Amino acid sequence: MVKRNYDRSIELNCPTCGCTQFEHEGEDYDSAKSIKCASCQLEFSKDDIIEGNSENISKHAEEISQEVFEDLQKQMKNIFKGNNFIKVK
Ligand SMILES: [Zn+2]
Repeated sequence: MVKRNYDRSIELNCPTCGCTQFEHEGEDYDSAKSIKCASCQLEFSKDDIIEGNSENISKHAEEISQEVFEDLQKQMKNIFKGNNFIKVK
């Protein structure tokens, strides 16, 4: 079975101004305690950002599950290919 990578980058917006550019301390977002909007200079905790983008994130999650669903359908069709007794629509 082919394993696919469903990781995708989700563009996060500043809850205040909508800017997508953030500055952060430390090596990367994972080690940074807070991130600062490059546009309005407000600092947010990562929880704030995630909460402010929850609609955005859940939209991506729906897209991902749709992809998984389509892949599963394809795999089902392949499994039943050549089998005259089971028909997959
Ligand atoms: Zn901002």
